[in-house]
Amino acid sequence: MTIPFAAPGRLDPEEAAAVRAAVESVVGGPSWVGGEPVSGFEADFASYLGAGDREVVGVGNGTDALAVAFGALGLAAGDGVLVSDDEGGYAATAAAQLGLRVRVTDVGSLPDDASGLAAVVVTHLHGDAVPLDELDSWRRSHGLLLVEDCAQAHGLRVDGRHVGLVGDAATFSFYPTKNLGAVGDGGAVVLAPHAAARARSLREYGWGARYRVEHAGGRNSRLDTLQAAVLSARLPFLDARNERRRGIANRYRAHLHLHGDPDTTVAHHAVALLEDRAARDALRDRLSGLGIMTGVHYPWLVSEMPGLTVDGGPSPVAAGRRDRMLSLPCFPELTDDEVVAVCEALS
Ligand SMILES: *Cc1c(COP(=O)(O)O)cnc(C)c1O
Repeated sequence: MTIPFAAPGRLDPEEAAAVRAAVESVVGGPSWVGGEPVSGFEADFASYLGAGDREVVGVGNGTDALAVAFGALGLAAGDGVLVSDDEGGYAATAAAQLGLRVRVTDVGSLPDDASGLAAVVVTHLHGDAVPLDELDSWRRSHGLLLVEDCAQAHGLRVDGRHVGLVGDAATFSFYPTKNLGAVGDGGAVVLAPHAAARARSLREYGWGARYRVEHAGGRNSRLDTLQAAVLSARLPFLDARNERRRGIANRYRAHLHLHGDPDTTVAHHAVALLEDRAARDALRDRLSGLGIMTGVHYPWLVSEMPGLTVDGGPSPVAAGRRDRMLSLPCFPELTDDEVVAVCEALS
């Protein structure tokens, strides 16, 4: 038996039927780019999030969502943005596209000196909510914008409120294996109306009027109509799928120490924390020998990536944790037998 780490095509029949019907409706419908399916999904997702006056702007993927958010909030070349060194490189890559200067911080620490910074990105990694109280007051005291990268945290609520609404912008990816996934790439930004209008322009060449580039820094990064229709069809299944993820993670939790708080997670990853690197590598090899696929999120810190130029680091806390982490199979369509097999391998 092989137990995959992810299997986006393995949908339950009811959800698969909804996805197929959505695809059909676009193929037979009036718009293959833009149109009602896109505005419809934007409205559906905004209402699901309880976004209030904030608007959802669909874009092509989660990395563009970050770049469009930065641009829509008025960040420009030379502005500094603070990211956590363990964020996977997504925010840093997006920031580099705008010529922003990236500064990394170690997990759980904030710099004393905020000079040169214009914004902070917080990444709700693994579907675990990052506690924001202290960070939010720190960044306010320094006049910094806050962007919440929610690419692993669709449906995550803290005290009943969705994450992504504390900062000035929230960004999402709908890559197929995310908690809410398309049948290809997709992304979204959540912003207050004025910035949302700017984001709508930036995702489509910087146009104001059609064919008239009014804003610098535009790109072509629309959310595909097909993907938007699929996402609207899948949204009603999201909470139940997250519940299933949480249930699987809790089964693993009975056998080993998992990262994060079971009450504030949507278990995008079920991340085991082993004693040290040797123990982690040994478990990874043993599971692999049993056909159980695992992952490490992420094997490199931002400050270690050759294609990213950043200030700050090293980050001993993030590096130590990275060496001890192992992501176990955790997606809603794992069968009960598979979950039992993983648990047996862990015990
Ligand atoms: C997946 C992911 C992204 C990037 O999303 P893409 O759609 O792949 O561009 C950004 N941030 C985080 C935390 C992610 O997990």
